[in-house]
Amino acid sequence: MRRLGLPPKLRLAPLWPALAATAIASAFLWFLLPGLFESTASVQLFDALRILTPIVQRQVSDTRTDPRLWVRQLAADSGLRVTLIRGDGVVIADSSVEPAKVGAMENHRQRPEVQEALARGSGMSVRRSATTGDTYVYAAKTLAGPRGETLILRLAEPLEQLQALRGQLAAAMALAVLAAGCGILVTSLWLDRRLFQPLSRLIADARNIAAGRAARVQVPDEDELAALALALNHLAATAEEQFEAVRKERDQLRQILASMSEGVLVVGPDGRALMINPAFYQLFDLRGDFSGRPVLEIIRHPGFSRLIEDTLRAGEPQSAQIELAVPERRTLLLASSPLSGGPGGERGAVVATRDTTELTRVADMRKDFVANVSHELKTPLAAIRGYAETLRDGALEEPATARRFTERILSQCRRLQELLDDLLTLSRLEGVAPALEREPVDLGAVVRRAVELLSTAAREKRVEITVEEEAVPPVPPIPGDPDGLERLLLNLLDNAIKYNRPDGKVTLRLARADGEAGQAVIEVSDTGIGIPPESIPRLFERFYRVDKGRAREEGGTGLGLAIVKHVAQAHGGQVDVESRVGRGSTFRVRLPLALTPPTPSLPASPL
Ligand code: ADP
Repeated sequence: MRRLGLPPKLRLAPLWPALAATAIASAFLWFLLPGLFESTASVQLFDALRILTPIVQRQVSDTRTDPRLWVRQLAADSGLRVTLIRGDGVVIADSSVEPAKVGAMENHRQRPEVQEALARGSGMSVRRSATTGDTYVYAAKTLAGPRGETLILRLAEPLEQLQALRGQLAAAMALAVLAAGCGILVTSLWLDRRLFQPLSRLIADARNIAAGRAARVQVPDEDELAALALALNHLAATAEEQFEAVRKERDQLRQILASMSEGVLVVGPDGRALMINPAFYQLFDLRGDFSGRPVLEIIRHPGFSRLIEDTLRAGEPQSAQIELAVPERRTLLLASSPLSGGPGGERGAVVATRDTTELTRVADMRKDFVANVSHELKTPLAAIRGYAETLRDGALEEPATARRFTERILSQCRRLQELLDDLLTLSRLEGVAPALEREPVDLGAVVRRAVELLSTAAREKRVEITVEEEAVPPVPPIPGDPDGLERLLLNLLDNAIKYNRPDGKVTLRLARADGEAGQAVIEVSDTGIGIPPESIPRLFERFYRVDKGRAREEGGTGLGLAIVKHVAQAHGGQVDVESRVGRGSTFRVRLPLALTPPTPSLPASPL
């Protein structure tokens, strides 16, 4: 930016030329003066010649008088040197030489003024006198002598007098220059006080406004500058209003961007990040400040880079879905639009990002769920239909076969019933059915009831169930859904019996753990077949079975553990499992003692 303002030493600059012009004019005059003096002196001399010639003519005619005497008188009267010369150059009289010494004077015929006068009637010259040694201006004129011979009257004025005049003139000129200098100085000071100083103040104030250190300029007393100051203040006020409006808009935009759940990244025409909102930092797990950095360095994902490149090249909105592996597997939906505004019309881009992991997961789950439910329903239905058709086609006539087939139909119906019950339980837990009702639930009683309900199944499988209920500290009743909690325990206990070995053991432990607000811990351990580590992450998914054949044989629906997880989460708790293949498994459920909102990771209903 160009700096405004006048450097102080230049403030008087416009006045210096005036001073210099005066000095130059004076110097010019100083050098012109000798010529001027000489021409003035010659004009004066010729004037004097014109006046003196008739007088001298008369004197010359009077031969009784001595020219050497009256010449002196004439010189004294006129203040000039007067010389009378014969046509052959012999000096007859000279006012500056003693009469007695005139005869000894040099012949003047070769004097330039004499020669000129002899040639043209009059002549002049400026030179040093050989007689007196001084510099003179000479003027000569011919006149007729008493006997008709040619005489020359010569007048001379010493230039020294004129030099003295020149000195006086020089002093006067110096005085004039000095006076002009003083005048200029006074004018400068006045201008400085009236114009430059207030102007400098205005400029300083304007700079302070620009730097945000001041709001307005001081209005000076001087009328000319007051108008300028008022105009500046008006400008400052308008600029302030506009800045304020822009600032407000920018703050609003920032707030909007900060509160958005979508990640937003603005890329400048140079490929650098102009703006990144907090959600974007979170989505891409970015730590630190990445503003101003090249975008391709911030997000090193080929899909992301391609999206930006396509948007910048095509100048049209683009979208893409990318998968991120770190910090966890996630699906992101990107939508980008071109952003114009580069100085040379270059394009930038704005990218909006949404985490669609959950949406994609729910959509996949819904698809899987429908497929699974259809499959689970199809198998018993096909069996029932097969048995019914066989009965219709004649098996009814054989009472033993008819009884066997009817039993099988009943068994398939029970399986269907169980499946429907489990689906309903899941649906109820997910809020489709009436919400979970909370009431104090005595977990000890629930445990004992579940053991009692499954004691026959355990006996049939030759599995021994042990209950360890820790009395100290006692587990208080927890706020919960008694049916849901009973379902949870029945499912865990049922699995522990089903996937056990003959003569195996099941241990059911109920204890209190002191976490933040206290927790009830239910542990169901078995000595069964165990679960391979790779199956553990999927164990709680609907219809997931480790060994499909065995699970079907055991008559499971594949929904038992999904229900366990849902019940635990609906109570604000969680479930985990430890298992070793061939050695057994331990399922551990932790439930908060106080009323707690459901655990947030509860997935949406796929129903
Ligand atoms: P299912 O009705 O098939 O038992 P679950 O959801 O209850 O369905 O269990 C899912 C799968 O987890 C089972 O099919 C089984 O393979 C495995 N599983 C559950 N509990 C145990 C356990 N205690 N020991 C071994 N495997 C188990």
